[in-house]
Amino acid sequence: MTRFDKSLVWFRRDLRNFDHAALHHALKQSRSVHCAFIFDKEILDALPRKDRRVEFIHASVVELDAALRRLGGGLIVRHGFAAEEIPRLAAQLEVDAVFGNHDYEPLAIARDAAVARALHADGSAWSSHKDQVVLEKNEVLSQAGKPFSVFTPYKNAWLKELQADEVHYLNAFPVEPYATNLAAIDAAERIPSLAQLGFEKTNLSELGIAGGMSGAQAFLDDFRGRIGAYARMRDFPAIRGTSCLSVHLRFGTTSIRGLVREALNAMRSLEDGNGAASWLSELVWREFYFMILHHHPHVAERAFKPEFDLIRWESGEHAQSLFCAWCEGRTGYPLVDAAMQQLNQTGYMHNRLRMVTASFLVKDLGVDWRWGERYFAQQLNDYDLAANNGGWQWAASTGCDAQPYFRIFNPVTQSEKFDPEGRFIRRYLPQLAKMPAKFIHAPWLAPSMEAQQAGLRHGADYPFPIVQHDEARKRTLARYAIIKPPSHSAHHKE
Ligand code: FAD
Repeated sequence: MTRFDKSLVWFRRDLRNFDHAALHHALKQSRSVHCAFIFDKEILDALPRKDRRVEFIHASVVELDAALRRLGGGLIVRHGFAAEEIPRLAAQLEVDAVFGNHDYEPLAIARDAAVARALHADGSAWSSHKDQVVLEKNEVLSQAGKPFSVFTPYKNAWLKELQADEVHYLNAFPVEPYATNLAAIDAAERIPSLAQLGFEKTNLSELGIAGGMSGAQAFLDDFRGRIGAYARMRDFPAIRGTSCLSVHLRFGTTSIRGLVREALNAMRSLEDGNGAASWLSELVWREFYFMILHHHPHVAERAFKPEFDLIRWESGEHAQSLFCAWCEGRTGYPLVDAAMQQLNQTGYMHNRLRMVTASFLVKDLGVDWRWGERYFAQQLNDYDLAANNGGWQWAASTGCDAQPYFRIFNPVTQSEKFDPEGRFIRRYLPQLAKMPAKFIHAPWLAPSMEAQQAGLRHGADYPFPIVQHDEARKRTLARYAIIKPPSHSAHHKE
């Protein structure tokens, strides 16, 4: 049905030209469709000049432009404030409507509302569509019609809703059949280079992280052969046991509907469907946190459970120095330090280690979870407000369905369990490379003879622990006691 003569599709975190809700609807409803991407100064101006995400997005935009050109269109790319550039472009192109996909982050919602107002004032429409999740907002509610705050019943209801109309929820939004409606791009249009945007190249390509739809497809092809083993392998950071697709999901170079179909197909076709079922669960966690952010936007600033905002965290110079040691991987706990090196050197951190390092910052160092959340937000290639906030509030026990506050990961036993030979630690802490596995998790316990043989000078090559875990644990229980005094049932589970 043609409703509009001319439209514009505004790409944001959906950098692909297939199975794309906004592009599909725009093409179906318009005679002629332009496509645009804005390198938004509102976001970019606050970033350091070397940022892997900007390079990833740049590569993805270049690939998307080429793919759209092959279909007869192309991408108009601007560098400016999106809230101004989009209405300006809409007026220049004289479009009747601008199409985009829903965003669930408070700042993006405010930006989209401002754009919609400016468009309406100019007489054009704003049309927004669900794209980055399978089920959103109120599509999964409890029987009482309320949003869930516990994951397992949410997941059960999510699966039930999906099964009720799998075709509707998972069908792709095709683009190619309507591609004749793409407006040809002006020959003078150029994508600014990374340098023209004011950014430098990072180590992204050395890390083997390719942007764009082709990068996502390569990771997916690689993971397809491993999905059956996911449940068994996913917790060991030394192994490539997970999909590594998070950065692609973040920027929409892959489609969530396609990934859920992959998981369901593998569950149905593989002899052991456990791996795929467990992976599907993670994709549902992603939707759970989007839903939480939608219904409880205050989590972006405060604890999900308000009583936890009363906790007194460490403060002043003492807190600053603990925090710096954590950021720089100098805590003296090898698994924590290796994980922080992984984050700093690659922009990625394995999920098990995100849990361990977050727990360590909050429950061993007594530092406010929001400091860690902010540091992850600056460093993670896959940074996503909903998932990051959900993960931090889970680790700090301040969130919905979080781990109980008295459950405090022991960084040494976590290390023994999930990196038994110390392979991951050795990769990121070369000064411990020769340490026998027996001592690598707690090198301060190595007798001086063993340390000498491993070439390690205690305190010089690698720091002594900045806190004693057992004492820190007691301080944390006391700190959280203002919520509910620890009872005799305060288990210490790992
Ligand atoms: P896989 O194990 O292959 O999982 C597949 C996909 O499911 C992931 O790509 C991701 O999109 C989603 N997913 C997996 N686990 C979770 C989870 N616990 N919550 C929400 N989605 C999940 N994930 C982010 O995408 N961005 C973040 O900023 C982020 N910050 C986190 C902070 C903390 C403190 C914690 C504990 C977790 C965080 N996670 C975040 C979740 C998780 O660690 C990553 O999604 C995962 O490590 C990415 O690796 P992968 O793609 O190989 O995941």
